[in-house]
Amino acid sequence: MIALPPLMSEDVIRTRVEQLAGRINTDYANVSELVLVGVLTGSFIFLSDLARLLTVPHRVEFIAVSSYGSRESEDPESVRLLMDVRRSLEGEHVVLVEDIVDTGKTLAYLMRLLEARRPDSIKTCSLLHKPGRTEQEVDIDYLGFTISDSWVVGYGLDYAEKYRTLPYIAELPVEYR
Ligand code: 5GP
Repeated sequence: MIALPPLMSEDVIRTRVEQLAGRINTDYANVSELVLVGVLTGSFIFLSDLARLLTVPHRVEFIAVSSYGSRESEDPESVRLLMDVRRSLEGEHVVLVEDIVDTGKTLAYLMRLLEARRPDSIKTCSLLHKPGRTEQEVDIDYLGFTISDSWVVGYGLDYAEKYRTLPYIAELPVEYR
């Protein structure tokens, strides 16, 4: 693996995650339990850092969807559910936690899916957003950083399963993709 210069350092990420956790702690101060639903696999490091900074009672669930265009015979635009949450979300206060919103299709799909489960409330949280790539508008209630259109890795984000555990976020130059 090559050494990549940081786009966001560990310190910058930590400060921003603390700010997001602070906002969530304030917004849900009067709620008996919050359910964090992490979208696998990219959100797992962000979610674990964020969750450990929460002072509001919470439980953690995970959900997994297919990456787009996995089989030629399928609609390359479609998102498919690979793994569902374990417990009902009915009447719960849910925060959906994503690593990155690119076209917005995954988050839009997941919002439709989870809203149908009749939670009391549902909000979205994403560490990163590439607004220049938006195809489906979705509100991001808690957003870490806005970035330009490049492929980023580290802090949970991969390229072909590599770079996921890099402690900071970096752009992967085109020649390494
Ligand atoms: P969307 O449905 O918003 O187009 O895509 C969301 C998913 O695409 C993310 O959850 C992530 O898995 C993947 N993705 C989009 N851009 C990037 C990127 O720059 N780096 C990595 N590692 N994954 C990305």
